[in-house]
Amino acid sequence: MTTTPVSCEFFPPRTEQGMEKLKRVHDKLNQALNPEYFSVTFGAGGSTQEKTLETVVHIQQSGSQAAPHLSCIASAKDNIRALLQSYKDNGISRIVALRGDKPSGWLGSIGEFSYANELVSFIREETGDYFHLEVAAYPEFHPQSKTAETEFKYFQQKVEAGANAAITQYFYNADSYFYFMDECQKRGIDIPVVPGIMPISNFEQLSRFSDTCGADIPRWLRWKLDAFKDDSDSLQKFGAEFLGRLCERLIQGGAPGIHFYTLNKANLTLNIARNIGLTQ
Ligand code: FAD
Repeated sequence: MTTTPVSCEFFPPRTEQGMEKLKRVHDKLNQALNPEYFSVTFGAGGSTQEKTLETVVHIQQSGSQAAPHLSCIASAKDNIRALLQSYKDNGISRIVALRGDKPSGWLGSIGEFSYANELVSFIREETGDYFHLEVAAYPEFHPQSKTAETEFKYFQQKVEAGANAAITQYFYNADSYFYFMDECQKRGIDIPVVPGIMPISNFEQLSRFSDTCGADIPRWLRWKLDAFKDDSDSLQKFGAEFLGRLCERLIQGGAPGIHFYTLNKANLTLNIARNIGLTQ
């Protein structure tokens, strides 16, 4: 079996029932893949703050390593400081540090942070080297990027501020990752950049989400996925095979690990993992 390190991402469930289901998903993934850590997303402006905390505390108490995402847009330093303390109090030592996006129609203040590098600096000032910090990377460029050059400059700022590693936005074209890594190398950026893998389970949703986050679905793949129509079993089977091949190429090309956006479902991730020998 392949020994590539794996991490898995969840979003915090809204209901008790959702939380119970997530606990079962966590146990299944943990048993099959033994991930290095499980990360849990954080709603813009702190909208899921309590649920994110509750979910990471559960994961950490179950014996796995948990990494809350922390987005700083529309946040105050005091709030972030208090959150860092509660993560420390719960034995959590890993954070995915992000800017986040203002919720649509947001009329509140922008807060005390404008970009993720400021959050990384703040966490380092407040807590030194206590936290292992992951940041976001965009092989196909962030939707608000002005030029390729500034994108790398801003990525470098996050690394200089103290990021230990990065997780990428999902992509379906391996070359975008390899190009990104080459450009990092030219600039002396040497932190591990782990590809984020988004399972293919619902073409319409994926298509909509990809348009907003700037992830490209190549034209041939769009046509192929669209042709499955309502046959979601076949769509998911094809998706797992396609993503298995993508992961293999990435691993062979030197990717230091794989981060699965699980969508809180065990099988979507396990089907990909099986295709690349990460589990039986
Ligand atoms: P930044 O690194 O700050 O970059 C944002 C944009 O600003 C980029 O276009 C960059 O080029 C530009 N920029 C950066 N610095 C400067 C500067 N000094 N001057 C001018 N422009 C600058 N969102 C959530 O709300 N919750 C989550 O849990 C979450 N998890 C994520 C996990 C991963 C792995 C990824 C890839 C994304 C996640 N996101 C999440 C989405 C993320 O918050 C958005 O993509 C957001 O728009 C950018 O966040 P960032 O941390 O990359 O921001």
